[in-house]
Amino acid sequence: MSSDKEEDRIGSEEEGFDLEEEGASCGPQPRGEEFNLFEALRDTTGNADPVTPVRLLPEDSFNFRCHKDVACWNRCCHGADITLTPSDILRLSKHFKQTAAEFLAANTVPAFFPRTNLPVAKLKMGGDDGKGPCPFVKAEGCSVYGARPQTCRYYPLGLVSMKMKDSPDKQDFHFLVREPHCQGHAEKQIQKVAQYREQQGVLSAEAVDRGWVDILMKMASWSSMGGPMGKAPTAQTQKMFFMATTDVEGFRRFVLNTKFLETYEIDAMAIDDIKNDDEAALHLAFDWLKNILFNEPTILLKEQVLQQAIAKARTEMGAG
Ligand code: SF4
Ligand code: SF4
Repeated sequence: MSSDKEEDRIGSEEEGFDLEEEGASCGPQPRGEEFNLFEALRDTTGNADPVTPVRLLPEDSFNFRCHKDVACWNRCCHGADITLTPSDILRLSKHFKQTAAEFLAANTVPAFFPRTNLPVAKLKMGGDDGKGPCPFVKAEGCSVYGARPQTCRYYPLGLVSMKMKDSPDKQDFHFLVREPHCQGHAEKQIQKVAQYREQQGVLSAEAVDRGWVDILMKMASWSSMGGPMGKAPTAQTQKMFFMATTDVEGFRRFVLNTKFLETYEIDAMAIDDIKNDDEAALHLAFDWLKNILFNEPTILLKEQVLQQAIAKARTEMGAG
């Protein structure tokens, strides 16, 4: 963007904590995984697809420059489709000295991330049709420039993460978005993708958001099979996912004020980190969600809870 610029029970903050896992790591598995943060940007002419279908890696170059004298200044900050990442919400709520919940209520609309059935927050654009200005755009440019979302930092690049089924590694790449109104592509400034990413300050936030990206990628890859083990996320799972990934204070209360700490092995130092460090709390949220959604061993049950769960399962199977 202007570059100056269920009724399943997994617990809830109100209801206490009651464990039931959603996913499983055995059984049929999906194919590859893919995440596209820049899924559907508006195209104001309503015609051409603005995405150039060429993968750009860090050493690749592209031509682009944005500055206040371009005729299209701030056009990209109207009607923009901007999904906020967990780190975006942390940064922006701190910028406004608000809680995450206050920031979300004032500036976002809920949406489902494509092919995941999982809820995310999008910046609320002005106008009845959502084609109006971003709440933060001013005549001089972005008023939250230092705290702007990742999508605005990448622009005019989009981001895709991919992981093929038989590969242990994820690969990130970018692609160029050429919206008809954006004059920045006609300016003379060639730069490498890596250089642009560094200038725009995307790296540290990418590291914070990685666990969230992993979850969305994995859920999207399960979508053709209906969800993990054929089960779509329930309303309660969706609610907990949204709370844990958008409302760090809410997730912290959930951990500290329910049976969470009686259920999972979390050492004293980690508990201190969760109390004092928002990024540590987000990290725990992602680990917990990976465990609940996909049975990943990202967080361990306490031995006593595990034994109780095994005894309960045996009873239910009639094994005494
Ligand atoms: S439309 Fe393109 S050139 Fe114009 S202000 Fe936005 S990013 Fe800059
Ligand atoms: S946060 Fe809003 S004003 Fe700032 S760059 Fe993004 S779309 Fe533009």
